[in-house]
Amino acid sequence: MGTHGPLFSAMLEEFEDAATHLGLDPGIWRILTHPRRQVVVSCPVLMDNGEIQVFTGYRVLYNVALGPGKGGIRFHPDVSLDEVTTLAAWMTWKCAVAHLPFGGAKGGIICDPSRMSRRELEALTRRYVAEIADLIGPEKDVPAPDVNTDAQTMAWVMDTYSMHVGHTETAVVTGKPVEMGGSLGRREATGRGVMVVTREAAAHVGLLFEGLRVAIQGFGNVGSVSADLLSRAGARVVAVTDVRGGLYRAEGLDIPALLRWATAHGSVAGFPDADPLPPADVFGLDVDVLIPAALENQITPANVDTIRARIVVEAANGPTLPEAHRHLHARGVFVVPDILANAGGVTASYFEWVQDRHGYFWTEAEVVSRLEQVMIKAFTTVVQTGVTHAVDLRTAAYMVAISRVADVTRLRGMYA
Ligand code: NAD
Repeated sequence: MGTHGPLFSAMLEEFEDAATHLGLDPGIWRILTHPRRQVVVSCPVLMDNGEIQVFTGYRVLYNVALGPGKGGIRFHPDVSLDEVTTLAAWMTWKCAVAHLPFGGAKGGIICDPSRMSRRELEALTRRYVAEIADLIGPEKDVPAPDVNTDAQTMAWVMDTYSMHVGHTETAVVTGKPVEMGGSLGRREATGRGVMVVTREAAAHVGLLFEGLRVAIQGFGNVGSVSADLLSRAGARVVAVTDVRGGLYRAEGLDIPALLRWATAHGSVAGFPDADPLPPADVFGLDVDVLIPAALENQITPANVDTIRARIVVEAANGPTLPEAHRHLHARGVFVVPDILANAGGVTASYFEWVQDRHGYFWTEAEVVSRLEQVMIKAFTTVVQTGVTHAVDLRTAAYMVAISRVADVTRLRGMYA
């Protein structure tokens, strides 16, 4: 299968480190390093200018040992089968680290949403869902938002699927608007999880949370909510960047004002009450915590030596190349790996799926409190595994995840 692109190879490197430490059975190793299913679909869309364009979409189901596939849908010009497959693998490990009854999946469409109208995006979403309608479902594979998709996109997914099956099926997708079966606290959940693990990591390395200097790359769903919750909790967010620009203010940015600015202007760039910062300079700042919350492959051998942070919290998926990660670890930087750091989103998605299936909804306080419990438990388990086996936290997180998926794979046995 066409899985061995550069990103999948990087994932395999991480997997192999952990699997070797675990002494993983070679047969189980083989199963866990192959995606269960990769689907490519063509989605014709009538554009506003009257032309028909055909977009390529993917849905990959990586592993379902622990439960239905779970994973977001990404809209981006750089989406590829390699990327979607790797993200689906990471979802498998992430759900297992958080101890959720889900497997891993992911979807993506090659498109540039910044150049598409809302009507075109709705048409594309609906056609994509129609193409994969037989493959998704509450018991099969449950999509969610990812880069450039949001609650509105998920509403279209839910509606299109429901029209196909002939009844309203809220549990087919998570990250929906609250009015139609979404969960309170879901929109903020990934950022909340990032805040919780940042707090735990600071305590672990002996840094005071109050006044902790934080720099964040990316000011979308994850980056902006992380900034908001971290600053509310007492940390000092001194720098943020997005694809169009960046900001620095040593005393800490006024995050509520910045959120209003970014909503009004579509970017942090131009915010008056801070110094402009070239986006690439975010890595070299003198801060306590660096939070990459944009896209993969951001911390590379080329910029890793400029990093001065004591803690790196990987809010994005795959932001650090394996070689760069080895440098950080060797220098004693405490790296909270993506499959742990951003697991808050899928955890709240799990809560949403549970609520939809029961038709009974929780208060925001319940969601927040259960989310904190899951994140703290996952953080503690991974840190303890790291100490016990004398490995870095990424290897430890993979070890926790792989052993959970491997145990169930063994128990379920082979169906030949
Ligand atoms: P988003 O589309 O809402 O935001 C992405 C942000 O990154 C934007 O502010 C964009 O301008 C910025 N960005 C893109 N390229 C950049 C660059 N080169 N330099 C600086 N900024 C850049 O996406 P999101 O949902 O916030 O997701 C961000 C990351 O978190 C992705 O890796 C995603 O897979 C991961 N993630 C998201 C969730 C979730 O619940 N949304 C959950 C887990 C992981």
